Amino acid sequence: MATMTLPAETQQQAVTQRCRFCGAGLQRTFVDLGLSPLCETYPALADFNRGETYYPLHVYVCENCFLVQLEEYESAENIFGDYAYFSSYSDSWLKHCEDYCNKMATRFRLNERSFVVEVASNDGYLLQYFARQKVPMLGIEPAANVAKVAIEKGVPTLVRFFGTELARELAAEGRCADLVLGNNVLAQVPDLNDFVEGLKILLKPEGVLTLEFPHLLKLIELNEFDTIYHEHYSYFSMLTTVRIMQAHGLKVFDVEKLKSHGGSIRVYACRDESRTHKFNPTVEELIAEERKAGLDTPEGYEGFARQVKQTKIALVEFLLTAARQGKSVAGYGAPGKSATLLHYCGIGKDLIEYTVDRSPYKQGRFLPGNHIPIFHPDRIRETKPDYVVIFPWNLKEEIKQQLQFIREWGGRFVLPIPKVTVD
Ligand SMILES: [Zn+2]
Repeated sequence: MATMTLPAETQQQAVTQRCRFCGAGLQRTFVDLGLSPLCETYPALADFNRGETYYPLHVYVCENCFLVQLEEYESAENIFGDYAYFSSYSDSWLKHCEDYCNKMATRFRLNERSFVVEVASNDGYLLQYFARQKVPMLGIEPAANVAKVAIEKGVPTLVRFFGTELARELAAEGRCADLVLGNNVLAQVPDLNDFVEGLKILLKPEGVLTLEFPHLLKLIELNEFDTIYHEHYSYFSMLTTVRIMQAHGLKVFDVEKLKSHGGSIRVYACRDESRTHKFNPTVEELIAEERKAGLDTPEGYEGFARQVKQTKIALVEFLLTAARQGKSVAGYGAPGKSATLLHYCGIGKDLIEYTVDRSPYKQGRFLPGNHIPIFHPDRIRETKPDYVVIFPWNLKEEIKQQLQFIREWGGRFVLPIPKVTVD
């Protein structure tokens, strides 16, 4: 049988995407997860007849700078304009933020005369701790509904997208900062160069920038493919991060490994010309670790797609067996990552009857695309499912503790990532 091949001309046309950072053509697939709807939209019953748009989740790795990235299929305005994610709902995350604020205040001697700016400040989940310490601060948050909650809490918040334009406005008003921070925002920036340039503009000459984001090395090692979704345009290694910072006149002087979001890093940077911040060798150690894993070669990115496919086979096999045995399966949580996992694996409410979530915003609504209903967590006690699939696996210990009562009826927990485990 003859195989169809594309004429050379068409093959060349297929390379239409350019790297978000360096502009090189993107040709190498990191993983192709098929099509998925926007993960942080939770339709209500009344929305069902309108249908939903599915976008490709095809991830490339740039062979020049090794930035792993998705194309911007939907504009950031559409995704983040009315964002459903309220950071304040996880206890362990709040503790993490409080510790961060204490640490920064001590290490960089922040006080009543300092100024802290957080980009993508959400509902004021973090800045509230600086407010308690009386450190002047400002949040920048594009989602109006989320910013409103912050303002009500007493966290001054600008409802804007961040970039060089806003940074120059603030700098012109004399509002450059001693500490600029961005937690889990770098991945969500479509115009990466404008954003990082803006961060530099906003820094005082000896100011410090800290950025936290999931570490690409961990994403690969721990098979965290479900953290790939449309809201996350880029996935960073330390190698690539240092390059991006350098291109904008910033130097990375320290890095810490964090447990949050399945393995994140906190990068500390300052202006090139700054002299006060001491270089920590952990930066070089982490880069060496990445080189050892091959992240400085295109081959280092092969193999991920294969392990992702293995996970799908194992999870679907488990759910089909449970269905055949007449066991009931519910989910816990409705995080963005559940959308990627369920769509890539082709799982609907025939295999997972419902899920529950602590966020009142999501209760009574449905997961996008597959319309698995989202209930209040009490539903689990009422229906006594045989299995509970934990979608936010990064909070698994906390969730297992909250749900210990499922043991009363012999209920068991299912973790889909890094590989399917039942306990
Ligand atoms: Zn590139």
